[in-house]
Amino acid sequence: MSRRKPNSSQLAIVNRNGGPDGQPIAKRRLDFGKRWSYAPALEANSYIKLRNRYQLFINGRFVSPKSGQYFDSINPATEEKLAEIGSANKGDVDLAVKAARRSYKNVWSKMPGRERGKYLFRIARLIQEKARELAVLETMDGGKTIKESRDIDLPLVAAHFFYYAGWADKLEYAFPGRKARPLGVAGQIIPWNFPLLMAAWKLAPALACGNTCVLKPAETTSITALHLAEIFQEAGLPDGVVNIVTGPGETGSALVNHPDIDKIAFTGSTEVGKRIASITVGTKKKLTLELGGKAANIIFEDAPIDQAVEGIIAGIYFNQGHVCCAGSRLFVQESVFLNVIRKLRDRISTLRVGDPLDKNTDIGAINSRSQLDKICELVDSGLKQGAQLVQSRARLPAKGYWYPPSFFTGVTASHRIAQEEIFGPVLSVMTFRTPEEAIAHANNTPYGLSAGVWTDKGSKIFKIVNQLRAGVVWANTYNKFDPASPFGGYKESGFGREGGRHGLLPYLTLG
Ligand code: NAP
Ligand code: MG
Repeated sequence: MSRRKPNSSQLAIVNRNGGPDGQPIAKRRLDFGKRWSYAPALEANSYIKLRNRYQLFINGRFVSPKSGQYFDSINPATEEKLAEIGSANKGDVDLAVKAARRSYKNVWSKMPGRERGKYLFRIARLIQEKARELAVLETMDGGKTIKESRDIDLPLVAAHFFYYAGWADKLEYAFPGRKARPLGVAGQIIPWNFPLLMAAWKLAPALACGNTCVLKPAETTSITALHLAEIFQEAGLPDGVVNIVTGPGETGSALVNHPDIDKIAFTGSTEVGKRIASITVGTKKKLTLELGGKAANIIFEDAPIDQAVEGIIAGIYFNQGHVCCAGSRLFVQESVFLNVIRKLRDRISTLRVGDPLDKNTDIGAINSRSQLDKICELVDSGLKQGAQLVQSRARLPAKGYWYPPSFFTGVTASHRIAQEEIFGPVLSVMTFRTPEEAIAHANNTPYGLSAGVWTDKGSKIFKIVNQLRAGVVWANTYNKFDPASPFGGYKESGFGREGGRHGLLPYLTLG
């Protein structure tokens, strides 16, 4: 595990010229580690039944991949192998698309919305029943804390199925005077940061509208999608309505290139999203892209500072920074800069990094070695370009992939850490003087997914929000989700919305 030269205090301040105009930030020696130590509180996982091998889920059955090839899924907190996952090739993708097409034609598109809704309600209830087990699996396979998978991911997964179950028989009310028709077969590709939640965001609206699906989970986090497939079996979902093809990027590429797909929904990196856009352009395939972000969290001098600092912590650190809408750039009004930085520095020294199955853990494991390398490379670039790094000295486990909570001061807009997605628990802090300056800085990125505003003045919130080019703006809070609220980006963060009534549109044609 690489980390920047820790020193003897609880926080390593790698370069201490961290204030605005170069004034130093006072360094205090606080031993939060001792004051805040907790006894281990491990979530039980002895009852979890992991299979040695997970097969593909095609036409309602688990089938071995045509290639006969499997890849390992590991626990990033221990580097232990959890299971082998089937690797789907072009032939498997073709079988899955054919199964989806058959069930679209013969069953799902013909079924009244009321009946489709019943299946979705049943799936939502089964997810609730198995929520604890699914949360533990999500944490073991992906490295996120049990606090997050249990209290955020799983409740939202069930809520999404409940929400879209409710729309299945009300499409004529969603779009009054219009005739809503499904598109056909949807190919859906998702990333590793919210494996089940992204599956729910994709599957629930597509199915509610009468489409059938072929889902491709991320390579490092396929396990929970295959447990979800068992729930589909248990709910009696007709064969072929949902098919799951696991595998590397090539499996996703085979899905995108398949001629009998009507719609591609992709969540992932901007780089892959651009590639997919260039393949689907000029074809019959409809496309939605949910891509990267570099969100600005803006703190005005009149903001409730303690509350804002908690919002920053929740927005970037509690999920290892593995969130596309993470508040990864912090803009602080100059008059409160030192106050905010001191509080932030003290607060990150109390964050517990370690076993994600421990209920006290705040920051879990980085999802993969390659993601950890990416974080380290960007942090190195920040140091080389002259920014100053403040880093918690939390003790990191010997095995697994970890990164301590960190932030940079002395960042300028041209630094890579101010422009590129770090996707780790690393924040870039900058200052501003006027609201106009804050807006200009916040919009100065190729992305436009989300933002946060902290101020005591409601009028200021409205003024700022209307000028921010971001799909979601939180005011005096951060990272709050609800299935009824649409989510999506501007510019290189993609197009199309997921969630809410808007989330039905990408899966329908309106006559
Ligand atoms: P990624 O490399 O783009 O992968 C996303 C998915 O696409 C994975 O299933 C991946 O498979 C697959 N894939 C890779 N190459 C492909 C290709 N050529 N054709 C089709 N599919 C392909 O992204 P990631 O690094 O896993 O995820 C992190 C990124 O997702 C970040 O940039 C983040 O901001 C973004 N994200 C956005 C949102 C949002 O709602 N806007 C939500 C979550 C994440 P493998 O796993 O096998 O490579
Ligand atoms: Mg894994």
